[in-house]
Amino acid sequence: MPSVDQPTRIGLEQALQIVAARAAQHRLPVETVSLADAPGRVSVDDVRAPWPLPPFANAAMDGFALHGADLPRDGERAFALVGEVFAGASSVPDVRAGQCVRVTTGAPMPPGADTVVIKENALVAGDRVLVNAGERPGANVRAAGEDYAEGDLAVPAGTPLAAAHLALLAACGVAEVTVRRQPRVAVIATGDELVPAGQPLGFGRIHDSNGAMLAALARESGARVVLQRRVRDEPESLRGALLEAAMEADVIVSSGGVSAGEADHLAGVTRELGEIHFHKVRLKPGMPTLFAGIGACLYFGLPGNPVASAVTFRVFVRLAMRAMLGVAELPQPRHARLDAPLHKRHPRAEFARCKLYSDANGVQWATVHASQGSAMLRGLVETDALALLPEGEREFRRGDVVTLWPG
Ligand code: AMP
Ligand code: MG
Repeated sequence: MPSVDQPTRIGLEQALQIVAARAAQHRLPVETVSLADAPGRVSVDDVRAPWPLPPFANAAMDGFALHGADLPRDGERAFALVGEVFAGASSVPDVRAGQCVRVTTGAPMPPGADTVVIKENALVAGDRVLVNAGERPGANVRAAGEDYAEGDLAVPAGTPLAAAHLALLAACGVAEVTVRRQPRVAVIATGDELVPAGQPLGFGRIHDSNGAMLAALARESGARVVLQRRVRDEPESLRGALLEAAMEADVIVSSGGVSAGEADHLAGVTRELGEIHFHKVRLKPGMPTLFAGIGACLYFGLPGNPVASAVTFRVFVRLAMRAMLGVAELPQPRHARLDAPLHKRHPRAEFARCKLYSDANGVQWATVHASQGSAMLRGLVETDALALLPEGEREFRRGDVVTLWPG
């Protein structure tokens, strides 16, 4: 595999494959959490419906439950009102021919009744209910199991749990769910120029913006940030920080110090501490990206330029986290049309920051932001998608379809 000794830059596809394969060997352990703690977590087991959903036939509307065969073909018919059943009722009266029972939505259907006439279509006169012709036998009843039959696959293993999944798990009576532990992430911002936000800048200094951004991206991706450091461009300090991080985290993410400058020590230090899987990818922004193993940790050395840090996190670190969490399905790729021609000045793959909008015909367009400099936060803040401009392609016309990077 390429290392710092082999200056070959690998392509994006190969880099993604290496990350996915390594991360798959770092599946996170499992734990059990309550549904309240489950949003965003990734399920481990297939959950099947333990009984039919809904569990019993019930009224879909407020009205009167009766025998569909008794409905008048023409004119009207009077039904004898013999009781009422509300949702949550623990017993229900029988309904015989010519009789009806008042029901509310969700009420168990009384034995014998197979139809609900909605209350708006019925006229109550004392203990009689008048129904006109035109009602459909079997209407307004939810059959037992019409949503999920007993044994149907409800939530497959490897599902990132969203609100709808939690509703289904609860409907299946499941109060606790087995999920992967959240990845523990250490964030290290490197650079002698860095000053934490809130402190005054000296000459030549800048505030550390990557630290806050990478920690937020990690949390957005379902991780727990267990350590956050700023470290000077000194090999000893960097080594110490990486070793400390490797003790506490599953994934280390650093920014800066991976290019070819005199103060870029991370590749050398990493080579001493672990195994470099790749260093440098034919990609813009993010060419200097470093990916390595240190102890039981995966280590991503992301470039210091804020846009490069953000893009490579979204492309590589998120992919790794999905694999570590055992996410079964990758997000569906989305597409948009470029709304202006574009000339790429280099052959590398490029992730262009762009803003999406839809026209009146429902066609999704992407406006590539004018600020594409990899140090320009404006191009990150004012966009909502990354469009992949593939390796080797240089000229793009208005209307060309581009792939939007998921996540
Ligand atoms: P490097 O990758 O270390 O060569 O840094 C590239 C550029 O990113 C330089 O202009 C750095 O000052 C800037 N940079 C590095 N780390 C950070 C950070 N944590 N926050 C903001 N800018 C940074
Ligand atoms: Mg630096």
